[in-house]
Amino acid sequence: MGQRKIIDFIQNRENDGLLRTLSVVEKYAPGKITVAGKEYINFSSNDYIGLAHHSELLNVIRDKGLNVYASASSRLMTGTGLLHNELEIKTASFKNKEAAMVFNSGYQANVGVISAMVGKGDAVFCDKLVHASIIDGSLLSGCKLYRFNHNDPAHLEYILDKYRKKYDRALLAIESIYSMDGDRAKLSEFELIKEKYDLIGMVDEAHATGIFGKNGSGLVEEEGNTASWDIIMGTFSKALGGFGAYIACDIITKKYLINTCRSYIYSTSLPFHVIASDIKSLDIIKEEPVRRKDLLEKSVFLRNNLKSIGLNVLGESQIIPTVFKDAHKTLEISEKLKSKGHWVTAVRPPTVPGGTSRLRISLNYDHSMENISDLVNAIKDCI
Ligand SMILES: *Cc1c(COP(=O)(O)O)cnc(C)c1O
Repeated sequence: MGQRKIIDFIQNRENDGLLRTLSVVEKYAPGKITVAGKEYINFSSNDYIGLAHHSELLNVIRDKGLNVYASASSRLMTGTGLLHNELEIKTASFKNKEAAMVFNSGYQANVGVISAMVGKGDAVFCDKLVHASIIDGSLLSGCKLYRFNHNDPAHLEYILDKYRKKYDRALLAIESIYSMDGDRAKLSEFELIKEKYDLIGMVDEAHATGIFGKNGSGLVEEEGNTASWDIIMGTFSKALGGFGAYIACDIITKKYLINTCRSYIYSTSLPFHVIASDIKSLDIIKEEPVRRKDLLEKSVFLRNNLKSIGLNVLGESQIIPTVFKDAHKTLEISEKLKSKGHWVTAVRPPTVPGGTSRLRISLNYDHSMENISDLVNAIKDCI
């Protein structure tokens, strides 16, 4: 792209109300952020159950007595320490699978795993709303990519009937809780289709881990069948308050991926204190179920209140997307809310489909009922 093209691109984005910019956060506090000297209630973070500020996670570095910061090596060289090993064992048990692999981020996990599991001559069948990293992994693999209508098992079957037989290996990729719509995948229906059409089943639990399921391991634990999903992916970077990601799978798949997954092989392993805090977060999920229970109760309260003032609210989780359609209008409401001290980011295309711009409100364990009622009143005043 020449310089002119770059400038035009930016100008067009700006004209369409779609230009993205960074806001520098000067201070983070439970449920709050400070930007340009002003404090806001933060309704845009994925720190759903407030673990990012949990004293036990913050204390973990000291408690572990670590005398080294990072391994300065990839996992296959000398970057697998005892802590990395412990985290993988613990994650496997948390997800009720034989094995687990820890990745440096969820983005790297999806891109690396999908591009290793399928290649030229194979196919990926994914939901239209899956995360960018799933799309990018599929494109990188060189496979054929089919996208079915959101959370629509019948449409998936229609596509599979037509095309499945053309391919040797085929992978089904869905999320369990969708990041921008906050709704639940019809897991049991997808599980049946996965078996019927002999697909590799992959489910991304980035937004379900730590929140759903009796043990907090995710929606597959709550209403699915762990055995049906060959690869269960999730992150330590959202509800778990830390950083990094994982997949849980069987031992054979792990052996294969250790030898083929380029984002696992060719990247320095995460620093030890990050891994130690990820381990601790799994303990806290077990020990403090009140966090997820409370979060989901507040989410029902907020969703019902927004619906009662006539808004188009999606989802059934701690993610409460409120759709205003037009990008300019959504941005304007977001700015008005900011002026009242509520930080709610406007999510616009290309992150979401055209004409579905929305406020993506996400709740946090540390939000008080008063914070939530204030938000509802502020939105009422802005629309
Ligand atoms: C956030 C997210 C990822 C990426 O995880 P990071 O650890 O932030 O890289 C992957 N999938 C989904 C559905 C996500 O929401």
